[in-house]
Amino acid sequence: MPSSRPEFLNDQSIRAALSQAWQASQAGTSSGHEEGGFILRDDSGQLFVERWDKGVQDTISLPPHGDCKVSGHEIVASFHTHPNTGSDYLQEPSETDRRAVRDDPDLKGRFYEGELVISQEKIYLVERNGQVSEVGDTQEILVRA
Ligand SMILES: [Zn+2]
Repeated sequence: MPSSRPEFLNDQSIRAALSQAWQASQAGTSSGHEEGGFILRDDSGQLFVERWDKGVQDTISLPPHGDCKVSGHEIVASFHTHPNTGSDYLQEPSETDRRAVRDDPDLKGRFYEGELVISQEKIYLVERNGQVSEVGDTQEILVRA
C-alpha cells in the first residue's frame, strides 16, 4: 500500500479535532460507533472541522455537501472512524468506503484530498479516485495534537 501524508495534518487544531472524534467513537467498547466530519477551509484560509451526526456501529452518513462545499466552504477532506476492533471488522477502508468517495459527484472538487479512515492502529486515506494509501500510525498522528 502506498503511503502519503496530506498537508492538512500539519495543522494541530485539525489533529486535535480528529483526536476528539476518535475518543467520541468509543473504540473497542460495546458502545463503539462511527464518528466523522468534514475538514473545511474558511475565507481566510483557516481549516476547521465540522462533525457529522453520530453514526452507528459500522456506518455513518454524510450531511448534504453539494459542489464539494458546505455553507460555501470548500471541503478539503472528510473523515470517519472505524472503532470496532474485533476480527469481524475491517480496519482498513472497505470496498463500500472506497466506492462512496469515488462515486460521489459532490466530492470531486480539485481542493478535495480524500477521506481519512481512522482505525485503532492506522490512519488511511481514500483518495478521490478510490485508491487507498496509508497515512501513518494513529497514536503518532492523534496523540501529539
Ligand atoms: Zn468505513
